[in-house]
Formats: sequence, structure tokens, C-alpha cells
Amino acid sequence: MNIIDGKKIAADIREELKLKINLLRENKKNVPGLVTIIVGENPASQVYVNMKIKACAEIGMNSKLEKLGENISQDELLKIIDDYNKDDYFHGILVQLPLPKHIDEDKIIEAINPSKDVDGFHPISVGKLIIGKDTFKSCTPFGIMELLKRYKIETKGKHVVVVGRSNIVGKPIANMLVQKEEGANAIVTICHSAAPDISYYTKQADILIAAVGRANLITKEMVKENVVVIDVGINRIKDAESKKGYKIVGDVEFDGVSKKASWITPVPGGVGPMTIAMLLSNTYKAYSLIENLN
Ligand code: NAD
Repeated sequence: MNIIDGKKIAADIREELKLKINLLRENKKNVPGLVTIIVGENPASQVYVNMKIKACAEIGMNSKLEKLGENISQDELLKIIDDYNKDDYFHGILVQLPLPKHIDEDKIIEAINPSKDVDGFHPISVGKLIIGKDTFKSCTPFGIMELLKRYKIETKGKHVVVVGRSNIVGKPIANMLVQKEEGANAIVTICHSAAPDISYYTKQADILIAAVGRANLITKEMVKENVVVIDVGINRIKDAESKKGYKIVGDVEFDGVSKKASWITPVPGGVGPMTIAMLLSNTYKAYSLIENLN
């Protein structure tokens, strides 16, 4: 069993971006900028946005946190997004989800200029992804693609089974892997909560991607020898031995499955760290396109 070290790859990506940004600064050029918009006081969202702001600062990227009150109206939020769409200082716009109930998330995502859609959630980005055009890819699945690429894990002709069909992980990763291009070209099955027995599918996987949100759902009996396992799940379970009283585990029962796997991502330290790295990478891409660097 070999570990796919997402922490290391994410650090490599951040370092590569930092060098590029240093070079821009040395040449007195503009540098990429990301604005993160947060509405309300959701504690988990606060943690995520702070991590994003810190990550930008560490690589020398410009960033701003736009904190808005819980009661802001949809129209006011749309106006703020429109202002950032026109603001040359910011190349990427991220609206932290979830939004309060009185705001229509789809309308907000659709209001972001697709050229600044660094989360890859805009329907134009999603549509382009499906038809194989270059676009912003949603950060977590894009991070999985990057892990497979950097560990030179063959995907061409391999059977990838994705468990979970969310719009932010399951569906986009399946669409990325099925494309006729290098680093993809896989045979993809998506299974989900309506499957009577997911093990029927998971046992066939050369590469298994679990994105469900159920602790230790995938056990060793459900996979074949030498499977490559990508565990996206982040689940909190009770742990009397930990000071906090809980620990974080994935969707895959690591101890058992890792004995059969050829490659496996740990939780934490696998897919998790890649999400912010790919957000930074997407912001650099937005900058390059807007500034015509390519
Ligand atoms: P979601 O709740 O939107 O989707 C879960 C999917 O799992 C659904 O499509 C559902 O059909 C499927 N499902 C539920 N129960 C099932 C079962 N018993 N068998 C088969 N399929 C089942 O979740 P999500 O946003 O895709 O996130 C999935 C997990 O990944 C969560 O633990 C989340 O915290 C984690 N996550 C991690 C990152 C990261 O590492 N950065 C990013 C996004 C999500």
C-alpha cells in the first residue's frame, strides 16, 4: 500500500504559485487577487474562509474578505458581486456557501462573471466541463485529478467507480475522468443512495472515489486487490482517546481497505488539503486569462 500524500502535493502547488507570484512582483506586474464573500456567521464557513485568506497571504496573492450581515438582501448581494465583476484588482470571486435561506444560491452563482468563477460552480463552467472545453473546475474534484496526475496513476481505460453524486464532488469528478484527454479517458460508473447494494459496483473498481459523508462506509470486503482509493469524506466520530473527544475519518475504513489497496488517500491529509491549493491555482488561471498571459 502506498499513501497519496495530499498535504505534500498541496504544499508543492502552493510553492509553485508563490514562485510565479514573486516573479510577477519582481517585474512590477499586477498579481492575482481573490475576493471571498461570506454572508452571516456560520462557524464552519468562518473557518473555511479564514483558511482561504491565510493561504492567499502565504503565497503573496492579493485577497480580501467581504463580510456581510446575515440580513443582507439578495439584490444588495447581487450588486456587490456585480461591482467585483468589474473590479480589475480581483480576478477570482468566491461566494462561501451555504447562504442564508432568503437568498437563492443559484442566482448568486449565476451572477458571478464566468471569467472569475474560481469555484467552478457557474453553469457555464459546468457546461464547458461536460463538453470537454477548458474551464474552471470545481476545486475538490480538480484536486483529485491533480493527485492522480502527480502520482502518475493510470486512468486511461480504467474502471473508476464514484460513490456519491453531489454537484460539488461526485458529478464533476465523473465528468472530468470520462473526458477523452490525457489524465482521464476512464470508464466511469456513478453510484449513489438509490443503489440497492453499492458493493456490487465498488468491487469492480480499479479506482474507487468515495464522496458520501458516511464514516467507514467502504470496508475491505467491498473492494478488490490493488484498488486505488480516493477518500473524499470528512466525518467526525467519537474518540475517547482524543482530547477533543472526536476524530476525523473518511468514508473508507482505512485499516482494512489499505491492506488491499495499491494507493490510498488518508483522512485527514489526502484530498482535503488539495481543495484550497486548487482554488489558488484557479485564481492564478483567472489572472492569466484576464491579463492575457497565456
Ligand atoms: P452530499 O451530501 O452533497 O452528497 C452525498 C452523496 O452521497 C449523495 O449524492 C448521495 O446520493 C450519496 N449517498 C448517500 N448515502 C449513500 C449510500 N449509503 N450509498 C451510496 N451513496 C450514498 O455530500 P458532498 O458535498 O459530495 O460531500 C461528500 C463528503 O465529502 C462529505 O463528507 C464532505 O464533508 C466531504 N467533502 C470534502 C471536501 C474536501 O476534502 N475538501 C470537499 C467537499 C466535500
